[in-house]
Amino acid sequence: MSEANNYKIITLDTAAPDTAEAKILLIYTGGTLGMGHDENGTLVPIDFSDLLSQAPVLGKFSLEVTIVAFNNPIDSSDILPVQWNGLAEIINKFYDDHDGFVIIHGTDTMAFTASALSFILEGLSKPVILTGAQLPITSIRTDALENLVTALEIASAKNEKGDAAVPEVCIYFNNKLLRGNRSQKVQSDKFHAFNSANYPALADSGIEIEYHYAYIHKPGSGIRLTNEVRFDNNVTIVKLFPGICKESLEPVLRNLCIKGVVLETYGSGNVMSEKWFIDLLKETIDRGVIVLNVSQCMGGRVTQGRYKTSEMLDKIGVINGFDLTTEAAITKLMFTLGKNLSYESTIECLILPVSGEMTRTNLQ
Ligand code: ASP
Repeated sequence: MSEANNYKIITLDTAAPDTAEAKILLIYTGGTLGMGHDENGTLVPIDFSDLLSQAPVLGKFSLEVTIVAFNNPIDSSDILPVQWNGLAEIINKFYDDHDGFVIIHGTDTMAFTASALSFILEGLSKPVILTGAQLPITSIRTDALENLVTALEIASAKNEKGDAAVPEVCIYFNNKLLRGNRSQKVQSDKFHAFNSANYPALADSGIEIEYHYAYIHKPGSGIRLTNEVRFDNNVTIVKLFPGICKESLEPVLRNLCIKGVVLETYGSGNVMSEKWFIDLLKETIDRGVIVLNVSQCMGGRVTQGRYKTSEMLDKIGVINGFDLTTEAAITKLMFTLGKNLSYESTIECLILPVSGEMTRTNLQ
């Protein structure tokens, strides 16, 4: 795995590997699911071999499961774009001879990783399911087992035609399967950690797993990973608040390193009308910086021009981010800028949905 992390490969001893219904690759990156308490009571990542001994139920599957475990599991707060590339490289390497992929990942940045992977793995024809837990697998009331076991089931599930039931990057958590690039972490201490306010769940898990096929992607033609994929992190997020001042915004927007800004605006995309702010935005855009407008609201969409307070945004060249989450917006911006396209082509790529991350109202 390029610079991202070193890993080891472990074959899981399952019930019937010879007659396995599917071959699954389980990638272990770290996160609470695989953490334990150190001598000070602080949660720290444990080695995957220890994790397996905590979850003997995994051995009962009649699946063939290969595990790729990071040698140094991480808290997902430490994840970097290079590791998104690394994860995509692993999936690419094992793609042809596996039916599905499960990634164990910390919840803190899971929605960013899921969004990033959905862009890199365009054309996906197999499931990539991210999951994690709010309580470590070592804890008696853990949610880790249900999340992990069901994620493995979903990764191996087929539809009536015998194709992968869910050929997209998803997050499975607390009985819900969500499109990865529509998900956001909404809870730090309840089990329902994720929500997808602008797109329905792809499946609900109860006694049966009920797939909502109408909302699930059709299989793509397969991934075409190229070495050129890179995320350009010369970007930033600016969240507006009443009273935000020129002195604090100018250094950010005038920073010559910055090539793209996700602007988190109010409601349906509204901003304050103060002249200094609009002038600063215009000056930034005129310098060639992409400004992408997403709403601070979890649900709903940006509609530039609906109110007077967003009317001028179209005119000065702010890009309408429709119902993109901030997580999808920033990763899409990094991914698109990483392609080194012209300003116009970058904007064209940004406003077109790549993998179901946004719904445009006025799709021409
Ligand atoms: N800090 C942890 C992480 O994101 C939290 C979690 O896994 O839920 O890795």
